[in-house]
Amino acid sequence: MKILSVNAGSSSLKFQLYEMPQEKILISGSMERIGVGNSFYTIKVNEEKIKKELELNNHEEAFETLVKELKANNVVDSLEDIKGIGHRVVQGGDYFDKSVVITDEVLSKIDELSSLAPLHNPAAITGIKAAKEVFKNAVQIAVFDTAFHQTMPKENYLYALPYSWYTNYKVRRYGAHGTSHKFVSQRMNEILGRNNTRLIICHIGNGASVSAVLNGKCINTSMGLTPNAGLIMGTRCGDIDASIIPYVMEKTGMNTREIDNALNKESGLLAISKKSSDSRDIEEGIASGDENCILAQKMYVRRIVDYVAKYYVEMGGCDAICFTAGIGENSMDTRRDIINELGVLGIKLDDSKNNVRGEERLISTEDSKVQCWIIPTNEELMIAKDTYELI
Ligand code: ADP
Repeated sequence: MKILSVNAGSSSLKFQLYEMPQEKILISGSMERIGVGNSFYTIKVNEEKIKKELELNNHEEAFETLVKELKANNVVDSLEDIKGIGHRVVQGGDYFDKSVVITDEVLSKIDELSSLAPLHNPAAITGIKAAKEVFKNAVQIAVFDTAFHQTMPKENYLYALPYSWYTNYKVRRYGAHGTSHKFVSQRMNEILGRNNTRLIICHIGNGASVSAVLNGKCINTSMGLTPNAGLIMGTRCGDIDASIIPYVMEKTGMNTREIDNALNKESGLLAISKKSSDSRDIEEGIASGDENCILAQKMYVRRIVDYVAKYYVEMGGCDAICFTAGIGENSMDTRRDIINELGVLGIKLDDSKNNVRGEERLISTEDSKVQCWIIPTNEELMIAKDTYELI
């Protein structure tokens, strides 16, 4: 069965078409600059990369173009071959604890939650509506970034804030990257051969979060109401003293939009390194003795270790720590620094095994008290799997 996995941004559309249940990728790619001029798309099919420039005025045109390419490359004979479309939706609030078939009611809930994810949910709605127009007979499924975290107990998702903020405005921890945390924890349990496990998943990319997964269910995660909580990220500050915000607003006269921009786009690794938000540049800086990069990396690693230690205690120990996403999969130095700081827990890195990028692998020593693994994430496949299972 052919399943299309879709991630729609306000002016972009990323997609992968799978043959399920074989999990074979038939075609993948992205459409960029939709509706903003100079649009183009790239497609990978039959080991070949195609890049074309073509005016795409809206997401419907993007899907129609995709269909033409699918037919031209003999990937499908007709539209009817595609039985399901799984859409990534960032914010599902506390309405959705799993993926669902998209009905009008589901669509209106996603819309209602737009105030919690103003950049993402409206874009997902645009993508869903366009896909419905083009793929009239396919089942449309919403896969939420927040759903996996809905099993958190109340003491972990509530903030110690006026309670009416929670009841009136839905202010609570929702987390994000849930599709990735779910994929990695399921894969880890498969490797361990059991589900009664205590896992700590470090999804560290440009955006980053850690989660505690007990017996297959998420019990805590570092992102909060929004993704700007928990870890230090490429350009996000993560956890800070909340009172810094009114203090700096008063001092500088910044408005809410400006302060939000500073906290999300001008902070994190970028702010401390004074150089870059990209960990490859930070590593380069460290190699050349750049003090700011050395400090940025120390702070970055410390925050991750804080969360791993916190979840270790919360779960009464841990069976495996998993590293995933851009930095987790590729940065040997960051994995080394994190694991070395966890030495007090009897966790030991095998340096020779750590010498790898983007490969599933055990990287701790045989006598390490906790196994450490690299588990490459695959959110697109998780979306396709959920879609296939629902159909
Ligand atoms: P997101 O999906 O949040 O945009 P990714 O998961 O793609 O982010 O991760 C991007 C991060 O991964 C960047 O900071 C980049 O520096 C880092 N990264 C990618 N490749 C490497 C590498 N070879 N070594 C170190 N860091 C890497």
